[in-house]
Amino acid sequence: MNDQKPLLDIRNLSTQFHTQDGIVKAVDGVSYNVKRGETIALVGESGCGKTVSALSILRLIPDPPGKIASGEIIFDGQDLLKLPIEAMTDIRGDKISMIFQEPLTSLDPVLTIGRQITEALERHRDMNGKEAEEEAIRLLKIVGIPQPDRRIKDYPHQFSGGMRQRAMIALAISCEPQLILADEPTTVVDVTIQAQLLELIRNITKDLNTALILITHNLGIVARYAHRVYVMYAGHIIEHGSSTDIYHHACHPYTQGLLGSVPRLDEPRKMRLKPIEGQPPDLIAPPKGCAFAPRCDRAMEACYKGRPPMVEITPDHYTACILASPEKKKTK
Ligand code: SF4
Repeated sequence: MNDQKPLLDIRNLSTQFHTQDGIVKAVDGVSYNVKRGETIALVGESGCGKTVSALSILRLIPDPPGKIASGEIIFDGQDLLKLPIEAMTDIRGDKISMIFQEPLTSLDPVLTIGRQITEALERHRDMNGKEAEEEAIRLLKIVGIPQPDRRIKDYPHQFSGGMRQRAMIALAISCEPQLILADEPTTVVDVTIQAQLLELIRNITKDLNTALILITHNLGIVARYAHRVYVMYAGHIIEHGSSTDIYHHACHPYTQGLLGSVPRLDEPRKMRLKPIEGQPPDLIAPPKGCAFAPRCDRAMEACYKGRPPMVEITPDHYTACILASPEKKKTK
């Protein structure tokens, strides 16, 4: 997978929101990529820019007040930001699909579950009504909905939270997309269902060789599912590397704080969880230096002077902290 060209290559993306109080730099010069069949995780607290960056890929940022200010989103060789907006409606749900956090608000409440899936199949796969219905039943079966031929006629409110999320997954995979964006796909369900859904998403993306961007605030759950992890803070990526790098050799104090604040599925619980003190900065007037400095117990004077550059500490493991070992430093 290492030699493959990325399927999606986001370069220096900046997305802003123009408010009465000033410009919110929600995503500020972010770069990341994902290859075919690969799973990456975008991790960080609420408001760090991970969801905004995903919505930017689909060009679903409400304009106004939002605007993609700069950057490139290269998907399968073409820059999505240069496409006419009508062309994006063909890409959404077909080549790229999204699993949203709360299916009750993202599924259409007045259409049956079956109709929502058949609509996508008729539009993007050119199927007739009967073919689409058969395919919808097959998809609901794959995601574990019992009696799919009967449940296809149900409305979203007739499904439990976990079943709605399964239906959302069926909808997301209906056109066999090349890329799935899963935004906190398990936040609204309990822990047991969470693990089942993550396994399901992993198995399906593996079978279809689909690239997956898993967006989550919970660094504890992704070790098992992501090949690589990007950690975001205050609109920037502050550390990225393989799952092993991030889980066992995290360098940035923020990543270390995230790891210490959540239960981990990859290790037995040994220590008490410790939340990161303080709040993320105001993105209208972010601090001049390291954005994490006001919350960092290792901050020193130099941290407030300028933004630390991203440095490579071991091959393909990068961090933006002045504590990163300078003798191995190689600026990206
Ligand atoms: Fe902490 Fe300084 Fe590193 Fe920022 S650059 S994370 S303030 S030590």
